[in-house]
Amino acid sequence: MAWKHASLSPSASARWIACPPSARLAAQYENKSSSYAEEGTSAHALCAYKLEHALGRRARDPTEDLTFYDEEMETCAEDYAAFVLQLVEEAKATCRDPLVLVEERLDYSRACGVPDSFGTGDCVIVADGRLTIVDFKYGKGISVSAKRNTQLMCYALGALGAFDGIYAIETIRLAIYQPRLENVSIDEFPKDELTKWGAEVLMPRAKQAYAGEGEFQAGDHCRFCPAKADCRKRAEYNLELAKYDFAMPDTLEEDEIAVLLPRIDEFIAWANDIKAIALQKALDGTHFDGYKIVAGRSVRKYTDETAVAKAVQDAGFDPYEKRLLGITAMGKLLGKKRMEDLLGGLMIKPPGKPTLVPDSDKRRALDPAAADFKRAVSA
Ligand code: SF4
Repeated sequence: MAWKHASLSPSASARWIACPPSARLAAQYENKSSSYAEEGTSAHALCAYKLEHALGRRARDPTEDLTFYDEEMETCAEDYAAFVLQLVEEAKATCRDPLVLVEERLDYSRACGVPDSFGTGDCVIVADGRLTIVDFKYGKGISVSAKRNTQLMCYALGALGAFDGIYAIETIRLAIYQPRLENVSIDEFPKDELTKWGAEVLMPRAKQAYAGEGEFQAGDHCRFCPAKADCRKRAEYNLELAKYDFAMPDTLEEDEIAVLLPRIDEFIAWANDIKAIALQKALDGTHFDGYKIVAGRSVRKYTDETAVAKAVQDAGFDPYEKRLLGITAMGKLLGKKRMEDLLGGLMIKPPGKPTLVPDSDKRRALDPAAADFKRAVSA
């Protein structure tokens, strides 16, 4: 089978660094686009335009060609441009004329020892003193951390290969701007740490990944792997946990629960992936003993809303209800700033339901004895 270089992409680097053979395995799966991915592409195009415009450069407004566009995307793109401008101003503190590159192709082939290894950096700020890599994330499912983020480190190696020596780069800054989760994550470390990581971690793993060698290694990174549903290694990894669970005494001790906790999210994700692929196979004709396909629960719906409204009005009733817009819809209607001006004093954010998360989660830990905490538990 022909080897696809694109499978060694920076965006999947956390996965193929942890599990090198996954790159070649993943290439066997169809690359399915999703509406989320298309929405992200539209948002990135708008961001690039807003940033070029904010930098005083000529650029074509892509809005009318975008597959997805709404008020929220407009606000996010404008906020992103303002965020980058702030970083550019900071760069001017150490460099009179920093270079600002938008949607730049960054080739890190030399750094990883594998040909045609490249990605596109949303924004790169090259300055004496510091190289900054900025990545815009439009997703709102998972909050992405910049902390030693391998995707951005690959970009940084590409940028370093092109500009080190031309600019006196000493530190590397990685910045993720994820407006829909109000997530701005920044990491900074010495240039030497990046080059050491490139030589000692990235290069050996990239070479293994390219050659389809190395050990399969399951973990949290499996969630983004195209092979996640039918990978044997991932199944073994999770079934190991299931066996451990069954071997437990009648009631679990706290230290036993502590052992299970870090594996539970991945176990649930894997179980759901197995259910999804089993359904797909069943729909394609596979019979699983003891199982059948049935129609899921469904609710009645109108076939023609206009005709329904007319029929009810003709009968002398009002078929419509008038309700206040929810906060998200109101935000889309008013825009972020006007919403804050008009309604800032009329909105509160009650504490969310308590959730148990690993220490690495960046949210502030709650005090179980606090009154707000108790109210949220009983809500
Ligand atoms: S599912 Fe996990 S273990 Fe399997 S190939 Fe993908 S990353 Fe590796």
